[in-house]
Amino acid sequence: MCLLRKNNVILHMDEACTNVVVEDDRVVGIETSKGSYSFDVVIVATGGKSFVSTGSSGDGYQWAQNLDIKVSDLYPGLVALRTKEDFDLAGLSLSNVGIQIKKGKRVLYKECGDILFTHEGLSGPAILAMSSYVINSKPERIILDLICDKSIDEVDMLLLERMNYSSNKKLSHILETMIPKRLVQYVMNRLYIDASLKANETTKAQRRSISELLKCLSFEIANFAGFEQAMITVGGIKTNQIQPQTMETKKIKGLKFIGEVLDLDAQTGGYNLQIAWTTGYVAGSTIKEGAN
Ligand SMILES: Cc1cc2nc3c(=O)[nH]c(=O)nc-3n(C[C@H](O)[C@H](O)[C@H](O)COP(=O)(O)OP(=O)(O)OC[C@H]3O[C@@H](n4cnc5c(N)ncnc54)[C@H](O)[C@@H]3O)c2cc1C
Repeated sequence: MCLLRKNNVILHMDEACTNVVVEDDRVVGIETSKGSYSFDVVIVATGGKSFVSTGSSGDGYQWAQNLDIKVSDLYPGLVALRTKEDFDLAGLSLSNVGIQIKKGKRVLYKECGDILFTHEGLSGPAILAMSSYVINSKPERIILDLICDKSIDEVDMLLLERMNYSSNKKLSHILETMIPKRLVQYVMNRLYIDASLKANETTKAQRRSISELLKCLSFEIANFAGFEQAMITVGGIKTNQIQPQTMETKKIKGLKFIGEVLDLDAQTGGYNLQIAWTTGYVAGSTIKEGAN
């Protein structure tokens, strides 16, 4: 705020911009809910169309399209996944889980990371990161590898060793040494294995089916949460219409676009904020020496 005052920046709060005014391929000002203003340079920094409660409703895309500036298809990005199956695991988080996203037999995405079970499906850093890659490919299945540093035979051998070592113990208690208790209950239920089964009563087929499920826990994907829950918008003003040295459009003199309204997006970790700051800096700092 101090810097703004020092530099005589005038803020117009509670005044929505409604249009960018262009004459003869040169920006001449803006219209707002309270009037109109003349400017030589206009920087559009309206953000994406996700998380509307933050004030970003996608106005910048509309202004661009009205001026024949191309906008690529828009999708919600960094967003949670909804599964068709219901499971009572909400709140359970797991580290270092293998994630595979499939459409038919085709693998669309493969990564390892941290996940969180929710009331509707799955979230967490690895799920959010994955969403931006596959959301427009209509993925069908997510397959989780709960012990991704071991092969299925190694998991089976580990389970067998623990069962032999504690043969009189309940199978569920042995599994709790490998995965969280809530997940043990889910695995046993999903495989119709009696919760009271002891290690020495467990058949080889039952043990193998558990090892397979730990390596390949599959859920049908219903969809992804929408723009209202998405952290970013994928797509936007195509960057080949922008001069990266100034962020000015190649088509309309004095008109600049910065931040999330552009067709630029990245993973979590501050990269999207960095895009906004960097493009904002370039657009602002080149106003004087730009060809405006
Ligand atoms: C919950 C959440 C968590 C996030 N976490 C991260 C993170 O960890 N790391 C990361 O890199 N990114 C994260 N992001 C994304 C990041 O916040 C955005 O990419 C970044 O803020 C985009 O900056 P921007 O200035 O382009 O747009 P915004 O920050 O969206 O700002 C746009 C501004 O324009 C205003 N506006 C829109 N239309 C008009 C209009 N017609 N008239 C006047 N004003 C208007 C809006 O009110 C808003 O204040 C997160 C986003 C959300 C929603």
